Amino acid sequence: MSMIKVDMNSPEFKARMEKTIKFTDKVCESRGWVYNPQVEVTEGVQMGLARNKMMYNKLFCPCFMIEEVDGKPQSVDNRICPCTPAIEKEIPETGACHCGIFCTPEFVAAKKIELEMKSN
Ligand code: SF4
Repeated sequence: MSMIKVDMNSPEFKARMEKTIKFTDKVCESRGWVYNPQVEVTEGVQMGLARNKMMYNKLFCPCFMIEEVDGKPQSVDNRICPCTPAIEKEIPETGACHCGIFCTPEFVAAKKIELEMKSN
């Protein structure tokens, strides 16, 4: 598959990033999830989603491969955000989606304690 380059410093990317943040905010709000307290995880996933939206016009998960099927790009595990495996399995069972951006409040509370313990 040909690689399309996305300039992360371009105004287009920055505008897309703003939209992506609004999108992930809404996902959290509507599903009762919260962001990963590790900001670099949350931002990294948002950047990956913004990039995929620009490249493929779809919110393909940044943590899964994208392959070409019948000339069209597809996420190998059909991971379009927020994906079904995260909704049905990962978040209810483990407290976070595969990429780690969307979490349950309980998962985040435990993670914060763990992070504080590490920093002390
Ligand atoms: S694992 Fe699913 S919910 Fe999490 S970022 Fe990827 S597509 Fe979105």
